Amino acid sequence: MLTGRQRNPRSYRIVGPQRQIDEREAPHSRVDLGELGERFSALRKSRAGEDPFKRVLWAGGGGDPNNSLNPIMKDVPEGGVNPNRIPVSDPAKMARNIKEIARFLGADVVGITDLDQAYVYSHRARGNAATGEKPGDPIHLPHRYAICMGFAFDYYKFLSNNSRISDAEYGLGMIHTIPTTFMLAAYIREMGYPAQAHHYGRYVVSPIPLAVNAGLGELGRHGLLINEEYGSRLQLSTVTTDLPLAVDEPVDIGVEEVCKYCMKCARICPSHSISFGGKEVYNGVEKYRINADTCYKYRLASRGQWTVCVICVSSCCYNKPKAWWHTLACWTIKKTPIPLRPLLIKPLLWIDDLFWGKRPWKHMKWLDYDNAPTPVTCNIPGCQAKHANLQHKRLHVTKPAAGGLVS
Ligand code: SF4
Ligand code: SF4
Repeated sequence: MLTGRQRNPRSYRIVGPQRQIDEREAPHSRVDLGELGERFSALRKSRAGEDPFKRVLWAGGGGDPNNSLNPIMKDVPEGGVNPNRIPVSDPAKMARNIKEIARFLGADVVGITDLDQAYVYSHRARGNAATGEKPGDPIHLPHRYAICMGFAFDYYKFLSNNSRISDAEYGLGMIHTIPTTFMLAAYIREMGYPAQAHHYGRYVVSPIPLAVNAGLGELGRHGLLINEEYGSRLQLSTVTTDLPLAVDEPVDIGVEEVCKYCMKCARICPSHSISFGGKEVYNGVEKYRINADTCYKYRLASRGQWTVCVICVSSCCYNKPKAWWHTLACWTIKKTPIPLRPLLIKPLLWIDDLFWGKRPWKHMKWLDYDNAPTPVTCNIPGCQAKHANLQHKRLHVTKPAAGGLVS
């Protein structure tokens, strides 16, 4: 079932009928429902652990829910629609204004697309105390447009992957989406139009395909949005609305060709969840598929030292600090005719491996955190094998890392 004009991005292709996904089929929900095993559900429930950052930024575990914006804002009621509607005569001008407001409120990138009902969940996995909705309730979201926003994670903190430093950055990124998304939806309601905020803890839409349709980037081999400036280190959120808006078109930044030859994420994924093969058809969509179950289960290997794996995000060759040479490389790929792109991409990928490493990683200390690998001990009596730690290629970063990070 589709509504709105169907978009035709290059990085995924609609090849058959799509059904709406039930939110209970989504990875987080499946874990919470115990479908990936009791051990993993317990890990997710206790993820707060002893780290105060985790209790504040992630909530759950032994932390007080009132100390985290996530549980507080998840069930906050959204306000009413102002009865004095401001007329909109020029949807293109209104779209420009809304994007400016979203950036003013804190978003790094913004795009607008039709709200395709294929990307609205059919049923809820989580209830909402404010609206009285319960798990399993059908979702009715008849809005016409989706305003898609991206919030950039810090490049340097993600290079500490996987560690408590990258965890803190990931958690803060999710929290960052909340006030901006809430305020943008509220602003539109005060203009007299319905609007709903979809942020961390409160999504009833799939933000990635909507963001691709809204021109924020393309879908990568690792199943994530790739933005020209920020790569995949964007936390996404959405506001759906009926405010008349001009929509954006999907972009071609060359991800289709780069992902075909690169495969860096597939090579370094520790759980082998990213495919080396071609695209597959799932639910009427042709795209690269990742194994969400094995990706999730890899968290069990953290030995309590981290919570979320961001290796594929920080290793993606589109993930670079803001620099003229990155802008130039992306611009050149984009402007090169499609049949000639492989000639350019192959040497660029070789340079990427040479300078940034096959597995970008950086030793960092921040506050009392240190992401140096802990020694591996072997408890097999008489074992003579050399148990080396995972050896990361040291990355030379000329710019001092943000927030006092040191190598
Ligand atoms: S998050 Fe980690 S485990 Fe999951 S696909 Fe990416 S690299 Fe693999
Ligand atoms: S690492 Fe390479 S193959 Fe993987 S998503 Fe990024 S560009 Fe595509």
